[in-house]
Amino acid sequence: MYQFSTAQELLAICEKEKAGIDEITIRSEMEASGQSREYIWSRMEEHYQVMQESIKNGLASDIKSLGGLIGGNAYKLQQYMQKGCLSGQTVIKAASYALAVTEVNASMGKIIAAPTGGASGTLPGVIAAFVEDRDMAEEMAVKALLVGAAIGKIIASQATLSGAEGGCQAECGSAAAMAAAAVVYLAGGTAEMSVDAAAMALKGLLGLVCDPVAGLVEVPCSKRNAIGAAHAMLCADMALAGITSFIPFDEVVEAMSRVGRMMSPDLRETARGGCAATPTARSYVLKINNLQTEQ
Ligand code: SF4
Repeated sequence: MYQFSTAQELLAICEKEKAGIDEITIRSEMEASGQSREYIWSRMEEHYQVMQESIKNGLASDIKSLGGLIGGNAYKLQQYMQKGCLSGQTVIKAASYALAVTEVNASMGKIIAAPTGGASGTLPGVIAAFVEDRDMAEEMAVKALLVGAAIGKIIASQATLSGAEGGCQAECGSAAAMAAAAVVYLAGGTAEMSVDAAAMALKGLLGLVCDPVAGLVEVPCSKRNAIGAAHAMLCADMALAGITSFIPFDEVVEAMSRVGRMMSPDLRETARGGCAATPTARSYVLKINNLQTEQ
């Protein structure tokens, strides 16, 4: 009764039940899992607490990733933000939080895969920055997570959330779509606006390849999460301004799936193409291989 696997179905249920995406997501989860509302809510609350913890830990100046390619960028952006910034406080805060979570992920810390480890920064970054800047209750953040989850669920059922299968469009693109829908909800937009924002966010990152340098989820992954956060905020603003997506969300998801299938395996997490095939990336790989041989 509350199950949906497309945005069209989700919006029809929202309309019929006169309820928001957050409410339909929790009802659908209760129906599918047989768990109580309280149990599902408390799990989402726990997820948000872990997200907040990873933001806090990732803002440390001395954090270093396992591969040594990233660390301290979230801290730098926070410092920079104090002196003013070009893109606006909440956008930069969201980007710095996104960097923080991915730096924790790359240093083997605890994060919530939302939707994956590589793309774990965008959704919490956007939600936490917005909730903090608007002085909203934590309850709103949990509801926004449910909105983001609905978008992730649709993409997972119609396409993929995996970079190895669909390229980075499936990971960072999906994360940006989830974040865009979530922040539209927080800003008081309608369910249709959330879905339009998600469509614009995914469209904007269509074709993005998965090309982790040395196979490590560090470069370009971390900064793509920050870019995804800013991208999500812009798409949310466009939807809130009444701009709609010419291509409906479900068709964008289908297109993403098709593009993913057309992508060369070199561009799907094998570290053989894109940024991973650049001279800088190759010389880094050579350096770590030499170090390992010496040990
Ligand atoms: S480049 Fe690949 S590994 Fe990195 S975030 Fe994107 S999909 Fe994940």
